[in-house]
Amino acid sequence: DDTRSGYLADENATLALGARIANAMQPGMTVFLEGDLGAGKTTLTRGILRGMGFAGRVKSPTYTLVEPYAVSNLNLYHFDLYRFQDPMEWVDAGFRDYFNPHSICLIEWADKAAGLLPTADWTIRLTPFEDGRNIEIQAHTEHGKACLAQLAL
Ligand code: ADP
Ligand code: MG
Repeated sequence: DDTRSGYLADENATLALGARIANAMQPGMTVFLEGDLGAGKTTLTRGILRGMGFAGRVKSPTYTLVEPYAVSNLNLYHFDLYRFQDPMEWVDAGFRDYFNPHSICLIEWADKAAGLLPTADWTIRLTPFEDGRNIEIQAHTEHGKACLAQLAL
């Protein structure tokens, strides 16, 4: 199946799912994180990084566009493109090279850089529901489908 969905009752549930997602992910993956401001995209990223063994601070890359992390023999790049405007900046900063078989890229507000990004292996959508969040993970590529099959949600 190409879609998984579930309910995250609180922030700890989001962090815990992040750790399970970390186990299912593989190098080379591109993941779009969708949902409004405050939906939990950065919180989920924090859970993924914790799950990969990263013990440091995970801050929102709202002003820097990207925050790089070196974890368990791979590079994870966390993008927040909310303030992204200039495609030349993308080229000049060399962001294209961040998408490679040895990295994982998680991208908030990917629509702001439409046309510059590779096809997402997964789209993860977070939506407020009651006091928590609904989450839906959709796989778009063969690689993404294989990884999603490893995920218990
Ligand atoms: P985004 O990156 O999508 O803008 P953040 O992760 O920065 O959102 O903020 C999400 C907010 O929602 C945080 O205050 C966090 O504590 C809270 N939160 C995260 N997951 C849940 C959840 N499952 N239920 C309720 N609140 C949550
Ligand atoms: Mg965020």
